Amino acid sequence: MEIHEIISSQKELFKTQKTKNLKFRKIYLEKLKEIIIKNENLLYEAIDKDFGKSKFETFTTEISFVIKDIDYYIKNLKSLAKPKKVKTNLANQIGSSKIYSEPLGCALIIGAWNYPYQLSLSPIVAALAAGNCCILKPSEIAENTMKAMSKIINENFPPEYLYVFEGGIDETTELLKLKFDKIFFTGSTKVGKIIYKAAAEHLTPVTLELGGKSPVIISKDANLEVAAKRIIWGKFLNAGQTCVAPDYLLVEESIQEQFLELLRKYILEFKYEFDSEQYTRIINQKNFERLIQLIDKNKIYFGGNFNEEKLFIEPTILTNINWEDEIMQDEIFGPILPVISFNNYNLTLNKIIELEKPLSAYLFTNNNEEKEAFTQKLSFGGGCINDVIMHLSNENLPFGGVGNSGIGSYHGKYGFETFSHQKTVLEKTTWGEPNIKYPPYSENKLKW
Ligand code: NAD
Repeated sequence: MEIHEIISSQKELFKTQKTKNLKFRKIYLEKLKEIIIKNENLLYEAIDKDFGKSKFETFTTEISFVIKDIDYYIKNLKSLAKPKKVKTNLANQIGSSKIYSEPLGCALIIGAWNYPYQLSLSPIVAALAAGNCCILKPSEIAENTMKAMSKIINENFPPEYLYVFEGGIDETTELLKLKFDKIFFTGSTKVGKIIYKAAAEHLTPVTLELGGKSPVIISKDANLEVAAKRIIWGKFLNAGQTCVAPDYLLVEESIQEQFLELLRKYILEFKYEFDSEQYTRIINQKNFERLIQLIDKNKIYFGGNFNEEKLFIEPTILTNINWEDEIMQDEIFGPILPVISFNNYNLTLNKIIELEKPLSAYLFTNNNEEKEAFTQKLSFGGGCINDVIMHLSNENLPFGGVGNSGIGSYHGKYGFETFSHQKTVLEKTTWGEPNIKYPPYSENKLKW
């Protein structure tokens, strides 16, 4: 079948109301879980071929993440889908008011390559849980994982309900001409704008999960040992190819030397080395070349070595960085960590406010005033105090960007809402209504 026929068949299935049935949704969520578990080795092999990601990282940041999502929706489906009763105002007495979570129809999910399973399958899980049909277009850049997902899903799901469409830019450009009821996109801000424009043609609602330069502030009042350990883990996880990775560090000058030593200590302790099992490689030659251009040899504090054949870049820390340096212009998305020192905390916050709103921001401190200023003044998608990245693993928190880092959010009940329309119904009795709203109008009625 051609892709436009598959989309038509999804719209037909949706019209039958079958996908709204809670039992139907649960059966297919269970099925998705079953095929992921059954094909776990195939999924590990594919991601290893794409960018040498370790089994442990793939399990913790991808497979178990998706399984946890499926379990969450299966467990909470009834309460999420249940109509919510709300108060009815005086003018609508005697009546009752309810909000119904209604699936949107046929959703298109466009995934990114850096967490190819999590970023493709988690939105699918939310879309199906909310009662939609779904087309997934994974990133062609991670070709093996794209093929693995297409194989396990297309062999096990009816295409009129869930289908994986393999394609690159040309195919996606064609796909975007068709009308969907929802588009959920994960990727760069640049492509996010293309998606938004295409969606506008059909007035299709969008969620855009984009990127940005996520700052980390390390105050002299921080627990430096904990900060260094958590930052090194978060930065070099997936070789820095994480949308919420610490992009750059802002370190209070008085503790900079001590802190840099701790960063070095943890890189060595975590054994992030060439050919190490712990350490992922760069996805492709194009990104590898882009990244090594950003390593200013005069500013290397640690690392700076690379192996082109194996697409490895050593964890690299750059110091004496200025805001004007090339590395400070765009999201790094790789294992290079620039460090800028500061003297004045509030001026540093003001500088961040001038920049595009990042997907995440992080602060390490034990000072309550600094925490308060960080939370109140800065705008960012989501973040942490005294940790990095982990906010996205709490399904009770909405995950998404703001401004240039995105539109909308998902995870947990927010994912369910993202793929639903909140339909309102006011039900009235046929008795007990005051006649005030009906003509003829009079001065007396205004006094009421
Ligand atoms: P990308 O924007 O290049 O690609 C994302 C998707 O868009 C792919 O499926 C690709 O095929 C498609 N695409 C690319 N060019 C297109 C075009 N011209 N027209 C239509 N479709 C097109 O992003 P990427 O390189 O896969 O991912 C890296 C970016 O994604 C980073 O900026 C990162 O921060 C961001 N990201 C964000 C999140 C998040 O959850 N907010 C998660 C992961 C990655």
